[in-house]
This record gives sequence, structure tokens and C-alpha cells, in this order.
Amino acid sequence: MNVEIHINCYETTQVIEDDQVKQGGQVFTTNIRGQVPPLVTTDFTVTDQGNASPRFIRCTTYSLPCTADLAKQCQVPLAAIIKPFASLPKNETPLYVVNHGDTGPVRCNRCKAYMCPYMQFIDGGRRYQCGFCNCVNEVPVFYFQHLDHMGRRVDFYERPELSLGSYEFVATLDYCKNNKPPNPPAYIFMIDVSYNNIKSGLVKLICDELKTLLEKLPREEGMDTSAIKVGFVTYNKVLHFYNVKSTLAQPQMMVVSDTAEMFVPLLDGFLRQNSLSVLLLDQIPDMFADTAESETVFAPVIQAGVEAFKAAECSGKLFIFHSSMPTAEAPGKLKNRDDKKLVNTDKEKTLFQPQKGVYEQLSKDCVASGCCVDLFLFPSQYTDIATMADVPSHTGGSVYKYSNFQVETDGEHFLRDLRKDVQKSIGFDAIMRVRTSTGFRATDFFGGIYMNNTTDVEMAAVDCDKGMTVEFKHDDTLSEETGALMQCALLYTTISGQRRLRIHNLSLNCSSQLSELYKSCETDSLINFFAKSAYRAILNQPLKNVREILVNQTAHMLACYRKNCASPSAASQLILPDAMKVFPVYMNSLMKTAPLVGSTELSTDDRAHQRLSVMAMGVEDTQLLLYPRLIPLVGNKNTLRLPATPVRCSEERLTDSGIFLLENGQSMFLWLGQASSPDLIQSLFNLPSLAHLQGHMCALPELDNPLSRKVRSIISGLLEKRSNSMKLQIVRQKDKPEMLFRQFLVEDKGLHGGASYMDFLCYVHREIRQLLT
Ligand SMILES: [Zn+2]
Repeated sequence: MNVEIHINCYETTQVIEDDQVKQGGQVFTTNIRGQVPPLVTTDFTVTDQGNASPRFIRCTTYSLPCTADLAKQCQVPLAAIIKPFASLPKNETPLYVVNHGDTGPVRCNRCKAYMCPYMQFIDGGRRYQCGFCNCVNEVPVFYFQHLDHMGRRVDFYERPELSLGSYEFVATLDYCKNNKPPNPPAYIFMIDVSYNNIKSGLVKLICDELKTLLEKLPREEGMDTSAIKVGFVTYNKVLHFYNVKSTLAQPQMMVVSDTAEMFVPLLDGFLRQNSLSVLLLDQIPDMFADTAESETVFAPVIQAGVEAFKAAECSGKLFIFHSSMPTAEAPGKLKNRDDKKLVNTDKEKTLFQPQKGVYEQLSKDCVASGCCVDLFLFPSQYTDIATMADVPSHTGGSVYKYSNFQVETDGEHFLRDLRKDVQKSIGFDAIMRVRTSTGFRATDFFGGIYMNNTTDVEMAAVDCDKGMTVEFKHDDTLSEETGALMQCALLYTTISGQRRLRIHNLSLNCSSQLSELYKSCETDSLINFFAKSAYRAILNQPLKNVREILVNQTAHMLACYRKNCASPSAASQLILPDAMKVFPVYMNSLMKTAPLVGSTELSTDDRAHQRLSVMAMGVEDTQLLLYPRLIPLVGNKNTLRLPATPVRCSEERLTDSGIFLLENGQSMFLWLGQASSPDLIQSLFNLPSLAHLQGHMCALPELDNPLSRKVRSIISGLLEKRSNSMKLQIVRQKDKPEMLFRQFLVEDKGLHGGASYMDFLCYVHREIRQLLT
């Protein structure tokens, strides 16, 4: 018997547009507990009135189930995605800094939570009850203030820590290593000067750019210059340190060839900022112009950075520009262990696992000394990214990959990344703790982090684009009346060397009704959680199992909704909670991503790289990655289509005469339909027809006509907005490189396996019906 099935493929682009129409341009005021914020894709302004802005914390649901049983029944993950240094738009107030002098911030005696809007003042203002552990504390004498007739302190509006969701405290010496104020952080640029990098012109490109970038290092608000000191190391099989002390006439090179026992051969004169650095950058490309050395070391390079920071008693970041697998005889030497035969077997996980030993210990050392590692990799073949990126991914660093790098086609793309990275707002030597009110607690953490114990999240550094995902579990019953509170406290060193505490508070609702939970869900946050938990799970389990878990949990969450919350309807109909209408399209897209799809056609390094990048992403980044923006640029009459509104990510939306832009935060394509009007091609490329278009073009020529100006401004606007640079790839319909583009049409059947959106919905629907019978 054939049962008619009613499945509505909800449109993600419509959901995004509707939210923009409803909440775009509005002010989101954070004074209400458990209020679900607008979507990450919506343009809105935040006014902090007691809860952290959704730019800092987003949750999978803003109404927690009261009991562990309910949580288990619905299987909706309870998690928060925290981006402690998120950039704020110019029209939002930067965080206030509270300074209590030598006494430091006021904290609950029992649970150590910091003073915040959830502390209830009683007893005429002499005592306060902690909202997290209920302990009643004496108010320190210096902090005493009378209460008004509402029971609120009369200085409520004058103290950020009483009225705001987010603020900072100046930390006292108790919060500093060895009770000493920290030194300002340092940046060390470490350049692989082996044969290929010199020959390709990469070393010269880097050195030229650094001369300019040294002037643009991040500086504290209101300061004229950056406090960051800078050092330079070049290396191949051996390391070269440079003394740039200002009393010298020339930079001095010191070579360390014993890479087994790494040390820094100079203390004074290494970390500086002066004119000699510029002279050195001028000289480096020439110094190695005749090199024949092609072997490199890698672990000793990181070790050298750690030793330099230790010696200078500061934290900081290493920028490593590296191109090949480290095969020279030294600690951390790697062998090619890529093996496509492992794909789709139980051993596939080993391709994602880093090699144990040297790098594991290095991560530990780096975190202990506040040494963040950023890796700019320029590989021409397999380099074992799973291992090479192990230290960056545990120290809050980033890994950038430029395969088969050529200065002409990739140079600008790389430099955009480097400029963004060097200038990012960032905190160093950080330790984060998430406290919760009684009844639930943080149990699991995902991100570019390191954990020595089960509660303290350590990060050598954390920048404005890094997000940590925190999972919560019940340990008791939550109360509908008091709700659930969380406080994220991040102790860190600023770019000028001040020790600070950044506090983000958020209050959620609790309910014994599952319908409340489903109503308060946030699909974009849910998918961030699922992406990270799946990407961690593939380190230990076969991919097939991980994909099964994802589908089962999807079906389970939706079946539970149908059973307990939806109004009765025909079994043939697929019913989705309003807040999760497009959840399946994201889930299906996640399952088709390179790390989760077992295909021998994908590069092992690309898969490992994507896995690690996603682990440190916030909600905006995972949303965009899993549902790319496909923007039609040309309308019906071959005219520019404005505004440039994205359409469904599906082949169905492409037209032979169309021109489309696609971007997902990592890649960007300009797709040209085979019947594109020659006039448009002329306007965009200054070429008579599509056939004249050469491959490898990576930017549009600057032509003086409306279409060219508009398209280039859309592209540069996107490049400005995203945290990474994207290389523009221009593809013609039906050309071979079009395959690269098609894999991003996430509603269609996957190129390397994986269902179309419609097929996935049908499959999930069948599973739901099975669960309900
Ligand atoms: Zn407490």
C-alpha cells in the first residue's frame, strides 16, 4: 500500500529572511530571563540590561527542562556556545572595566562566583545571598550600600557588576603568576626558509608584509603604540635567532643546530620593537637566496618559542609559516601515514588522531607558558595536519592552509588572512570557569582549549573569533521560579599586559513542559553543538556509527516533540517544532561535510583541517559553513539584481544565463552560467565571451561600470566581514572545476555521498514514525 507522505521542505533562506524582517534593525534588550535572541544571521543591536549579549553566549535552548528525566526523554542537548572576546559593532558599548583596587572583585565565599546581577542583597544591604549556591555572604565594608524601597542597592546603575550581563574586573596580584604583574605579550614570527619557500617567493612576500604589519599590532584603547614586543626566527633543519638590539648597527644571527635540546641563545635583544627589525626583514630573503636545504624541523620551532616566552616572562603568540612535513632528524619528526585504504573502515579514526608523544607534551608546555601557536601552512602534498595542527588547536591558535601556494594566485588571499590574524583582538594566558546555579553544571567542553582538570578551561590565548561549546547536565531538579543561571569568568592578560577578569552572565528559564523547551530552541546553536560533538566522536568511533547517532538523535528529538507537544495530525505528516523547522537541512549538511563523509576522493589533510577548524568556531561560523550563501547577481533581464538576497543552496536555483556568488566563510565562488550574456562578461572581465576566460583568475579586474563596481563591492564587503579570507574561485557551468562549487549546494545529493535534503527528510520521517509506533 502506498501512503501519501506530506513533507514540507522548509526554506532556510526564507526563515533567515523572515527573522531579518521581524527583528532586523531592532534593539534586543537583555533584561528578560530566557529570552530567545534573533538569529545569528539577523542584523540587530544589543543593549545589555543584565544578561550577556548573544554575541558572547548563545544557547541550544533558553528553557531548560526541570528534570534529568525530561532532558533524557527529549534528547535535546543542553549547551552554551561562548565567544568571550566576540567583536561588538561600533554602536554597542564596549565592556566596562571595574576596578576595586587592592581588594579585588567581590566573590561568594562558598562557590567563588563573582559579583553580578544575580546576587540578592538583604539585611539592609549588609549581606547578600549568592544566586548560584544560595550561600549568604557579608558585604565587605568598602562595598556596603543602602537599599531602596525595592530592595535594590541605590548604586545599582553606577555599578556595571550589579546591572549588566558582561563587564570586566581589574585583577589583583593574587590572579597573576607568581603574584607578579605580567609583562606585555610578545609575537614571534617564525619563517621556514627552506628551498621551496625561497624559490616560490613566499619568504619575500612574508617579510615585505611584516614590515607594514609591525606598525599595526593591536594596542590598548587610547594608547598610541602597541606594547607588544616582536621577535624573529628563521629555520630549516636548524634555527636562526636574530639579535635586533638598537645599539647594534646590523641585526646579528645566532644559529642553533642542536634541535634536540632547544634553547634560546640570546635573551637581551631578541624580543624588541625597533627599526632594526625592519632592516632584518629586508635582509632575510637575500640571506637565504642560495639555499639548497629542503628539510625542515617543526616541534623544535615551537619549543624555541616556548623557551623564549619563559625567558622573557611573558605570554604571546607564535606565527609559524611552514610548508612541508618535518622530516629532518629532530624531536617531532613525522612520516607519511596517509592511507586511503583506511577510509570507511574501523581504523579511519586514526587518520584524525594526532601522533602521540612530542606534540602532546608541547601543547602542555605551551598552555603552561601562555604560548599560542598560529600555523600558516603551504603544503604541496600530505603533511599530517592531524599532528601538525595539534598544538595550535590546543592553544587557541588558528591553522591556515594554502595548498600548492603560488604568489600570483594565492598571495593576496594569504596576506588578507595574515593581516586579519595579526590585528585581531585577543587575550592571553587565559583560564575560564563556567559556574552554574544549583541543579545543573557544565560537564563537557569543546574548543581550541586545554583541560588539566574537569572544570578549568585553559587557553594560551583566545581571540575574537574563537568559540567554546559547553554542555550541561542535571544533577538535581531545577526550579521554574528561580530559573537557571550561568556565569562565565575568564581570567586573562590584555595586549598591554594587564591582568583582567571578563565576566559574562546569562539567566535561562526552566520548565516542566517540554513544549517550552522546544519553543525556546535555537537551531544554529544546536547544530554548532552537534558539529563539535560529532567531530570529536570521530576520533574514537567509526564514522558510520557517528552518522547513525546523529540521525537517531534527530529523529528522537523530533518524535518526542510530536508525541508530547504537537497537536494531533495525520501520521503521514512530518511535524517539526517551529524553532527547529530547518534543523534537518543543517543536520544533513553536517553529515555531508568532509570529516564525516567517508570518501577516498577527499584529502586526509583537508578533512583533518576542517575538523579542527570547526572545533573552535562560534555559532555564526558553523551556520554559514553548513548553509552557504548562494547569491544571484543577475536578474531576469540580464541586469544587476539588488538587493543581493541569497537563495536556496540547490542546483535547481541555477540558471544557464545566471551569475551567482557562493560563500561559506571558507570558500568563495563566482559561478557563470554557460549562456551568460556577453555584455555581462564584458562588463565583469573585459572579455568578449565566456570562452575567453582563462583559468586561475582569482580576482575581478577593476573596471569602471556599475556591474563590475557592484560585484566587486559585494565581494570585498564579504571579505571584510568574515573572520577568514576566502580565495575567489571563478567557475564556468559544466567546466571541470565546477565540481568544487557543486559540493557546496547542500540541499542536493552529496558529491561524495550523502542524501539530498528531501531524501533526508523522508528518511527522518520514517524513523520518527517507527519511534512512535
Ligand atoms: Zn555562591
